[in-house]
Amino acid sequence: MVVLSSAIVRHVNKPKENDSTPSIQNEIVDYNKLPKDINNKTQNPKSITEQDQDPKEITDMIDLDQNKEGDDDIQEVFLISEIDDSVRERIYGLSYKSECPIPLSKLRFLTLTYYGFDEKTHTGEMIVHEELSEDVIEIFRELYENKYPIEKIRLIDEYEADDNKSMEDNNTSCFCYRTKTSGNSVSMHGYGLAIDINPMQNPYVYKNLILPEGSNDYVDRSKNRKGMIIKEDICYQAFIKRGWTWGGNWKKCKDYQHFEKELENTNHKNG
Ligand SMILES: [Zn+2]
Repeated sequence: MVVLSSAIVRHVNKPKENDSTPSIQNEIVDYNKLPKDINNKTQNPKSITEQDQDPKEITDMIDLDQNKEGDDDIQEVFLISEIDDSVRERIYGLSYKSECPIPLSKLRFLTLTYYGFDEKTHTGEMIVHEELSEDVIEIFRELYENKYPIEKIRLIDEYEADDNKSMEDNNTSCFCYRTKTSGNSVSMHGYGLAIDINPMQNPYVYKNLILPEGSNDYVDRSKNRKGMIIKEDICYQAFIKRGWTWGGNWKKCKDYQHFEKELENTNHKNG
């Protein structure tokens, strides 16, 4: 895996007092123990150079799979990586197709820590357009630090790249090469420029169509319940202040789960 961004990894829970032997991860990347200058570098991915601590080494030390089920002593991880062979194998022919308008080299694989509906820390995976990758890392860090509940963040390929299945499982995801829900043009998701968050609590509503199945109760936006995106809440603000638009503000249809960001010099938008 080629890691492009820094790893910012730290213990969410401090090691037990009687644990006098720091773990390897702790020794290498404990955020709080890094010298000040390294701290600054890890906060700004662009300042990482080849002379700096090798970020590849850092990721290799962390068994991310360990953390998927909400361990007590979990690491906080926010990573940007290129699409390597193992990720390519997972997505090719599913969310990524040969006719896809964007090359794999323009996509990035993110590893993100999030705060679950179960109030535990989890590790998620997401594929986004390279130009939005740092935005997305910052947004999800903000959501995590504010304990904004997200039920799950998995690649849509775990649902055979079927958006309905992913939405029905309340999965938060970004990249999937597909057409818009209403229409034939390529969705912003097909470029990795849109993210759907907690789809069950934030349905897509157009005329009589409500998606996903089972989300009807959430068409009423006046009763705030866990996982719902409400205008001006932390999630809304985290996206909007970085120039994203929210489908909950659209007039023709309402797509409460959907945030997207237009890149300069492109004109594919809304959906
Ligand atoms: Zn969407």
